[in-house]
Amino acid sequence: MSFLENMYKEVILDHYKRPRNRGALDPASVREEGLNPSCGDELELFLEIDGGTVQNVSFVGEGCAISQASASMMTEAIKGKAVSEVLDLSSKFKAMIGGDTPDDALGDLKTLQGVAKLHARVKCATLSWVTLEQALEGFS
Ligand code: ZN
Repeated sequence: MSFLENMYKEVILDHYKRPRNRGALDPASVREEGLNPSCGDELELFLEIDGGTVQNVSFVGEGCAISQASASMMTEAIKGKAVSEVLDLSSKFKAMIGGDTPDDALGDLKTLQGVAKLHARVKCATLSWVTLEQALEGFS
């Protein structure tokens, strides 16, 4: 049985196979690259920020199912939200992956809760969020 069997496998695999908001954004307010060398996950994140709100977001990347599904879910979760809300969501997501009880605000992102028990996968799940926080420096 693979490690994915114990998680919300279908949701994660659906995002992996049919990533949402995939592709470059042009023009973008900010472009940020993220790398998780321990697994080989790569991510390039594009954000269009206007009036303190994430108006649009997209990503391109390569890597394991967890990293790519997490990025896809993140783009859906943050689009249209204020930068301050996005940063709050990011800290809640990282707390969950760190083992805390997931906050209800996380919605579908809670399907990644099982990663908290897979230490080697923690950086896969948080790569998109860490990259996002770097991208938002200067906008918050
Ligand atoms: Zn990975």
